[in-house]
Amino acid sequence: MKKVTVVGAGLAGCEATWQLISKGIMVDLIEMRPSKKTPAHTSGEFAELVCSNSLRSNALTNGVGLLKAEMRLFDSLIMKVADECSLPSGSALAVDREVFAKRITSILHEHPLVNIINKEQDVIIDEPMIIATGPLTSDKMTKVIGNYVDNDFLYFYDAVAPIIIKDSIDFSIAYYKSRYDKGGDDYINLPLNKEQFFAFYHELINAKTIKLHDFEKEIFFEGCMPIEEIARRGIKTMLFGPLKPVGLKQEGKESPYAVVQLRQDNAVASLYNMVGFQTHLTYGEQQRVFKMIPGLQNAEFARLGVMHRNTYLNSPSCLRNTYQSNKRDNLFFAGQITGVEGYVESAASGLLAGINMALSVQNKELFVLPNTTMLGAMANYITNADPSNFQPMNANFGIMRLLVDTDKRSRKEAYANQSLSILKDYVKIWNDTNKGF
Ligand SMILES: Cc1cc2nc3c(=O)[nH]c(=O)nc-3n(C[C@H](O)[C@H](O)[C@H](O)COP(=O)(O)OP(=O)(O)OC[C@H]3O[C@@H](n4cnc5c(N)ncnc54)[C@H](O)[C@@H]3O)c2cc1C
Repeated sequence: MKKVTVVGAGLAGCEATWQLISKGIMVDLIEMRPSKKTPAHTSGEFAELVCSNSLRSNALTNGVGLLKAEMRLFDSLIMKVADECSLPSGSALAVDREVFAKRITSILHEHPLVNIINKEQDVIIDEPMIIATGPLTSDKMTKVIGNYVDNDFLYFYDAVAPIIIKDSIDFSIAYYKSRYDKGGDDYINLPLNKEQFFAFYHELINAKTIKLHDFEKEIFFEGCMPIEEIARRGIKTMLFGPLKPVGLKQEGKESPYAVVQLRQDNAVASLYNMVGFQTHLTYGEQQRVFKMIPGLQNAEFARLGVMHRNTYLNSPSCLRNTYQSNKRDNLFFAGQITGVEGYVESAASGLLAGINMALSVQNKELFVLPNTTMLGAMANYITNADPSNFQPMNANFGIMRLLVDTDKRSRKEAYANQSLSILKDYVKIWNDTNKGF
């Protein structure tokens, strides 16, 4: 019988394990907790949700909602248990986190094909292995992975400004221009008059922020200061920083009092990030306050800003879109360490890595999912993004490709229908894949 080693029993590691054992493959599942803790986990249970108990939207017309539906097609363990432990929360999927973690732990503990090993892994073995050690990978393993991928390709913090889907920007207000016209029309500019600026400033400094863990406080360094901290330093500080208006006047219009700039974020120019807007505001507050910026009143955020400890790979330089290492066919990475961001995204990458590892040990063709599906779009984004400016990514429609030209109102539904229909063929292949050998 074939055996795979999975390191890390978080969301990705548990999902990968489930996919492997569903095909009769034995798994050594190595987890260091509870004997060695991380700075954020509080229990020894598997798949612990370290912060919110929400797995975000469950709606098919939302990127992460579609991702959940795709995972359910592949009989995802994380989705199955989340659905069983769900709590009332409107169109979102929130869970009782203790019941959720305990149930996943007991399912894997009791499974005859899973051998649980409680230790801190500190070596990459030559045998088939999936590394899913998460954003808080232990120091020893971080060093080992750093050596393996070349240290330049491993990062420790994630300080990301919100990223906006271009289609949702109001271009009757927004305009293309580079400062003093140096560099072509590289930026989208959002002008504010004096009154709009002060209203925005006031809401920004009074908005709710996320409480920092002690281990995260060190990320407040000058080059990466959150926008709300810059604002708190003085009423006009932002006008000399990210909202500087000079060189951005439009022909025939009044000089703006302040300008927010958006920079292109992906090759197909469907996503734009807010320059200098890394932030600690809660997700709800980011949506509320940033939509006050003229032109963003209907903005859809591909991802919101975060600043937190996050160990992750420069995946465009080290991974294939099968989640395999560039250097070796039988070494996979999964979860947040690959540069996907979020509970569901981490579990989803574990699902695809687990499936592909199972196919690989059975000498079958691996799934290279297209970016017309959300599972494929995530894998393709993290492995094809610009390696010189790689930032983790959430599931969103901005990274997907739509095959049919559809009007804006029915576009989200079209993304979902397209993806679920394309994946049916892959589900059939997967279901027909023999157990064992
Ligand atoms: C502080 C914090 C808060 C977050 N809050 C949210 C949130 O609210 N919503 C959201 O969607 N996402 C959130 N995330 C992002 C992310 O989605 C989660 O961290 C998610 O749990 C990642 O899944 P994972 O499987 O990749 O890693 P994890 O779930 O962290 O699992 C990794 C596992 O590997 C183990 N491990 C680490 N090193 C070793 C080793 N050397 N040997 C053996 N085991 C090891 C760990 O103990 C852990 O159990 C947060 C991240 C952090 C750091």
